[in-house]
Amino acid sequence: MEPNAERPAGTRAVGIDIGGTKMAVAVVDAAGNIVSRETLPTQAELGFPRAVARLGDAVERVLADARASSLGGIGIGCAGPVDPLRGLINNPYTLAGWDRCDIVTPLRARFGVPVRLENDADAAALGECFRGAGRGYDPVVMLTFGTGIGGAVVLGGAVYRGVNGEHPELGHVAVAADGPHCYCGRPGCLEAIASGTAIGEAGRAAGFEDARGVFAAAQAGHAAARRIVARAVEATAVAAWTFLHTFLPERFLLGGGMMDEQFALFSEAVNRSIAAAAMAPRSRVTVARAELGNDAGLVGAASLVFPKRA
Ligand SMILES: [Zn+2]
Repeated sequence: MEPNAERPAGTRAVGIDIGGTKMAVAVVDAAGNIVSRETLPTQAELGFPRAVARLGDAVERVLADARASSLGGIGIGCAGPVDPLRGLINNPYTLAGWDRCDIVTPLRARFGVPVRLENDADAAALGECFRGAGRGYDPVVMLTFGTGIGGAVVLGGAVYRGVNGEHPELGHVAVAADGPHCYCGRPGCLEAIASGTAIGEAGRAAGFEDARGVFAAAQAGHAAARRIVARAVEATAVAAWTFLHTFLPERFLLGGGMMDEQFALFSEAVNRSIAAAAMAPRSRVTVARAELGNDAGLVGAASLVFPKRA
């Protein structure tokens, strides 16, 4: 069975965004507008079947709110790892007990429409390319700076997949051989230096409360804070150099909570790499801030069930 191979038509789709603490469900029209929505706590610990039943009930409510008569399908973006080809959530790490959980079959049985599943970072990138700052650009590399650093590549309107359909982990490119050890297995990853968690940890060792405190102190000229921030910015510049030369994107998108206040600093680092790259068509590569915020995952998930545009 290949649920993701189906190509439905339809004017409305349901997008679902599943995270460790909350789930969002929305009706999205074919232009990418959210027509109605609902947010509910994930409560993963109550078990997967219970969550699927609650999601199904929420889908019915948002459809009723939107007065949607025809449903083209349901797209789901979920905190990974997920197996998008088989429709399985394999994330016991942040969704307690959710390992090899088939979310596609029960929702398809309940609603009688195609259902597709993606990693949430991929869904967010698809959302930005469908309705946000990535629209009209191809390929797009999106980096999301938050607790960790997520990344996705969209090529020809589809997410780039690795072996087994899996999601490449752009946050774990190595940028500094002498960097802090990362849980992925080696030292000096982008995420281990430039994520909110990494900046916060480096900051606490220097007497700051959290990442936000580090950025504020750096701006005020505090030397230790400036070093931590400079290292994160340089790590981002090195990573951008790698992505520029591996994917040659037409656009880099920077998103995630950290970019709400720090986009200027980090986009300048990416632009610096682009400007220095003798072998890249520099004027064709741009950097932008992701526009859709938390809605990107919902819109991108819903876009999975709309027919591809030419
Ligand atoms: Zn790593």
